[in-house]
Amino acid sequence: MTRDTLTGLFNRGALLRHAGHVLADAKARGASYAVLMIDLDRFKQINDNYGHLAGDNILRAVAGVLSGSLTSSYLPGRFGGEEFLLLMSDTELPTALQQAEHLRTAIAELVVQTDSGPLTVTTSIGVAVGTPGEALEAVVHRADQALYSAKESGRNLVAS
Ligand code: GH3
Ligand code: MG
Ligand code: MG
Repeated sequence: MTRDTLTGLFNRGALLRHAGHVLADAKARGASYAVLMIDLDRFKQINDNYGHLAGDNILRAVAGVLSGSLTSSYLPGRFGGEEFLLLMSDTELPTALQQAEHLRTAIAELVVQTDSGPLTVTTSIGVAVGTPGEALEAVVHRADQALYSAKESGRNLVAS
């Protein structure tokens, strides 16, 4: 199974496999790349207040933004529960930040129809850039730290 059944995005394993190919290619060309860790804000509260099915609808809608508004050189996937990863090859920090801000805004503007009524959600996004050949794991770790700082700074924010 390579697709996450709820969102249709690549699941974590498939994402990491694809990333391996993308990054080997980027390394060969001496290209840097960016990782965005995208985490839904206070999602547990949404489940608690409106139910798990409403939460699922929101996850699908967010995945739609990730797969819909991006060029094919960007690789999105569902990394874990309410956490998505976006791998951007041939990307430097300014572009990564710009794309992250664009996604953050697009998600915040989503209105998701659920059985509990129309709901909205925000995300915090951690951004990190990897040098050519740098291991994905190290860059994901930095993106995670940036994500943590976005959460600490109040959420609905991009941090690097
Ligand atoms: P924070 O802003 O700090 O990220 O808070 P949070 O509530 O989003 O984070 P926390 O890690 O406490 O909770 C994540 C929640 O995501 C808990 C879990 O039930 C929910 N979740 C994970 N996977 C799914 C899913 O597939 N469907 C639904 N409906 N909820 C999910
Ligand atoms: Mg969260
Ligand atoms: Mg999380």
